[in-house]
Amino acid sequence: MSRLQPVRGTRDILGDEARRFGHVVDSFRRLADVYAFEEIITPVFEFTDVFRRTLGETSDVVTKEMYSFEDRSGEMLTLRPEYTAGIARAWLSNGLAQQGTAKLAGFGPMFRYERPQKGRYRQFHQLDAEIIGVAEPTADIELIAFAWQLLADLGLADSVTLHLNTLGDPESRQAYRTALVDYFSAHRDKLSDDSRARLEKNPLRILDSKDPGDRALLGEAPKLDAYLNARSRDFYAAVRGGVEALGIPYIHDPHLVRGLDYYTHTAFEFITDALGAQGTVLGGGRYDGLIAQMGGAPTPGVGWAAGIERLAMLLPESPAVAPLSILMPLGEAVAARAWTLARDLRAAGVRLDIDWKGNLKKRLNRAARRGARFALLLGEDELAKDAVTLRDLESGAQREVPMAALVEELESHDRV
Ligand code: ATP
Ligand code: MG
Repeated sequence: MSRLQPVRGTRDILGDEARRFGHVVDSFRRLADVYAFEEIITPVFEFTDVFRRTLGETSDVVTKEMYSFEDRSGEMLTLRPEYTAGIARAWLSNGLAQQGTAKLAGFGPMFRYERPQKGRYRQFHQLDAEIIGVAEPTADIELIAFAWQLLADLGLADSVTLHLNTLGDPESRQAYRTALVDYFSAHRDKLSDDSRARLEKNPLRILDSKDPGDRALLGEAPKLDAYLNARSRDFYAAVRGGVEALGIPYIHDPHLVRGLDYYTHTAFEFITDALGAQGTVLGGGRYDGLIAQMGGAPTPGVGWAAGIERLAMLLPESPAVAPLSILMPLGEAVAARAWTLARDLRAAGVRLDIDWKGNLKKRLNRAARRGARFALLLGEDELAKDAVTLRDLESGAQREVPMAALVEELESHDRV
């Protein structure tokens, strides 16, 4: 029955994939804390305007990808397609401006109506880090440092490349925009329909086009570098200087523009060639105009987002799991002690399950099938001695261990 399938573009994450997913999230949260970011959890839906007004009326996300609906009271709502606009909204709603700078990090599901394929889903998950209220390139450098350390912790330093560019300040961008409109207008007939529509509203986005015809025009297109004013050039030089000081390898990529309207100055992406067309694992940049566009006082901001599924797929190996022990209470008479022993072992951090059912042979087989490391046999004999029989499920070796010594024993030995 098709209704028992998940909706196209959505998926259940379980087993090894869930462990990989969890490992990515755990690594991110630990590092976010170390980098002194505060966690922020924003709603998965917002008023549609939060996205429509900030991402740009002509962005792909707004024109084609948003899940928008009217709720029962007639409000137009949208399932968030990205994190930044919601965080900026939260910054305003909660009066965070009073606190000056905010370093905020979060993760969760995003929703975009896209053509599903490997690494591209309609519900996917992002990690997100933002620094709001810092106009200087120090914030850009710190975010890139955070991203790089995360990727390195995940074992991906050798499989991704940092692409870095600047979009300049609004003045430089305006000058460049005019040059682009002139150039592409002269080649109007060769542009894709999408890009012809972009020509008037946001010609920069043509640089981001995946259409082969459009891409063929890019080689000769004007380069932003020539239109940067001194302020924009200095800003970019400072970002590059910081990245170089940290020894983070990167390439200057003049075609990197990022898909959304609100970016200024720094734009960056970490790209891999291991995921086909879905090569960008982490992307971000500066959005100095966003908060003002939302109706707040002009406030600078910079941030990045990373696709959790793409990172999880790229992990060089499955995350390690702690060895599993299975407690096997043998007979009614030991049940009460089995519960308290399990409670105490678990409180001490031992990864433990209890198997109550069937004869011993069945239970041992089941435990082996699950890949458990040890069986803890508790019968009436053991109970009388306040001990368990500790059995190595790989070798079959076993010996008696006093209950009081069990935690130590399980932590310090990987065999019996
Ligand atoms: P792409 O060019 O692949 O469409 P994007 O520029 O739209 O990416 P961003 O909006 O910058 O992506 O989102 C940041 C990250 O979120 C991406 O680098 C990617 O890892 C992930 N991501 C974006 N869209 C999807 C999706 N539909 N499914 C899975 N991951 C996604
Ligand atoms: Mg996209």
